[in-house]
Amino acid sequence: MKILLIDDDSGDRATLKRAIGKYSLGATFTEAASLDEALNGLRHEIPDLVLLDYQMPGTEALEGLNQIRELEPFLPIILTTGYGDELLAARAIHAGADEYLPKDQLNTPVLEHAIQNAIDKALYRQALDESRRELEQFAHVLSHDLRAPLNQINSFSELLKEDLQEGRQDDVATYLDFIGRAANDASALIRMLTDFLRADKIELTSEPVDLHAVLDELCRMLAEQKGKALNAFHVDVQDLPALHSQPVLLRQILQNLLSNALKYNNNERPLVEVTTRLDDAGVAIIVSDNGIGIEEQYREHIFQPFTRLHSKDEYSGTGLGLAICAKNAARLGGSLSCEQNPCGGSRFILTLPLKNP
Ligand code: ADP
Repeated sequence: MKILLIDDDSGDRATLKRAIGKYSLGATFTEAASLDEALNGLRHEIPDLVLLDYQMPGTEALEGLNQIRELEPFLPIILTTGYGDELLAARAIHAGADEYLPKDQLNTPVLEHAIQNAIDKALYRQALDESRRELEQFAHVLSHDLRAPLNQINSFSELLKEDLQEGRQDDVATYLDFIGRAANDASALIRMLTDFLRADKIELTSEPVDLHAVLDELCRMLAEQKGKALNAFHVDVQDLPALHSQPVLLRQILQNLLSNALKYNNNERPLVEVTTRLDDAGVAIIVSDNGIGIEEQYREHIFQPFTRLHSKDEYSGTGLGLAICAKNAARLGGSLSCEQNPCGGSRFILTLPLKNP
């Protein structure tokens, strides 16, 4: 562990080094006698932990804390002080220090607690910051994607109103068609969003799943919905041992994969093949199609929410289907990946344990 000691008193630095050295044999130290020296050092090398003296001549300690945070927001920082009073501790933590360490209590249990706590808190702050950013981005894209069909409904309603006021009928059916499609887009987005957000809330039961029956029902439903021939689907899952999983989450994955396999397919004779394979991780369910395929550089990216490789004019969609699949697969203790189908098109591989965790 690399530790940066910031303290103007060389005696105190030596005491801290000795005490920490006893607690953590692998610790290495960089020392700084002033805040400027510490900030310069931080620009060249990032330690795993900072111990910052509360009383640095020429700087208010909490100001030092802020300056370090500006440079490296997720560094674990422990404020050290010679006074050791409760008020100071509260102030330090309130100002953003991860921990507080009185220099007159440098015994192993206190050090261990302070160091571990500071590291845990910094990791927690980082995770919180990442999920806040993700949420912000999610909300941004969502509001944009939801606004688009609503704006479309607004514009075409206006045009429709004008035409009807002026007694023109020619474009009425076209405008109503656009309005209907935009309303469908908005409700598909809300439905997919509900599935995406609900995935975490569905209880993770482990029930016997008759994969053959689930696939059979899905293929019939999709063939009917999409007006494609049922013989587009070839399902071959005979050799499978008993599978225990969460049926709702598993069904969502398979439905999205099968639906995409048909949707992203301009082949005169669309073909979707479902096969299974047993491997060390459990069972692999493989959905292959002879559709438009996915270029290699996008094959990981498509599992991120709202990632679409085509415009809505080419293929309708929300960009949430595969994100739901990936999230569900992870919850079921498995994984989902995509590769090129050697016969052309794409191949999605869902790996699941025979019994979910
Ligand atoms: P949606 O279909 O709603 O756009 P998805 O998350 O299901 O969202 O898919 C993300 C993107 O991945 C799609 O927009 C499409 O470009 C691509 N994709 C998904 N499945 C396939 C497939 N079987 N073949 C080709 N491209 C696909």
